[in-house]
Amino acid sequence: MFMRRRGTAEKTAMIIAIDGPAGAGKSTVARKLAQKLGMDYLDTGAMYRALTLEALRKRVDLDDALTLSRLAADMELGTVYVPGKRPPYRVLLGGEDVTVAVRSREVSAQVSKVSAHAEVRAELVRKQRAMAEGRDMVVEGRDVGTVVFPDAPVKFFVTASVAERAQRRHRAMLRDGYEVSLEAVRREVVRRDRLDSTRVVNPLRRAPDAEMVDTTGKSVAQVVNGLARRVREKLEEAAGRR
Ligand code: C5P
Repeated sequence: MFMRRRGTAEKTAMIIAIDGPAGAGKSTVARKLAQKLGMDYLDTGAMYRALTLEALRKRVDLDDALTLSRLAADMELGTVYVPGKRPPYRVLLGGEDVTVAVRSREVSAQVSKVSAHAEVRAELVRKQRAMAEGRDMVVEGRDVGTVVFPDAPVKFFVTASVAERAQRRHRAMLRDGYEVSLEAVRREVVRRDRLDSTRVVNPLRRAPDAEMVDTTGKSVAQVVNGLARRVREKLEEAAGRR
């Protein structure tokens, strides 16, 4: 979930926050944008997913916020870039490659419950800030522009129609070997949106200063090029004001 690129550590740190609902294409565009701009990349959703996987494996009660937050604190998270693998950014939990396991239907069905606990969020937000310390980084999630990095100079809220988001998730799941119907995926997308946007702690919402990006009907390249252009414009505007 965290990719450090060589040779970028000494500059002033800059965060690009990318938030949005499930299946909007956030992860793909965030990763490609980071590559294009030569920045690090952090997928905060993978952290909530890894914690959910760990909790399910250890049979922790998903209503037990304290035990979950302890698990989050002790969890050894990492990532490795393996060119040629799909996806190339592999999520490691205690050294084990859990990239596919964290995307399972079971984890997807339970992750919103785990991520709704204030104690869990406090712990993972702390980890996210520590991981980004002093780095140029594209960070994607649900509350990055509102809570984790409210001062990020560039923020995007990436979305798409429900139909398109369900189709994209469905295709990705089939590709990863999960046999599932489009309708089941659509229901899951709608359910997760509702849970993520209505939870009391750090709900999914657009930061007032985040730009809306609708990816419906657009190719990944179109979206990534558009975002890269906006980043450059915003940085030039900010430099002009100084
Ligand atoms: O982005 P992804 O679909 O992998 O996120 C999985 C889940 O993790 C979301 O549905 C949400 O419940 C939770 N999440 C969160 N805050 C974040 C990122 C993800 O609550 N910053």
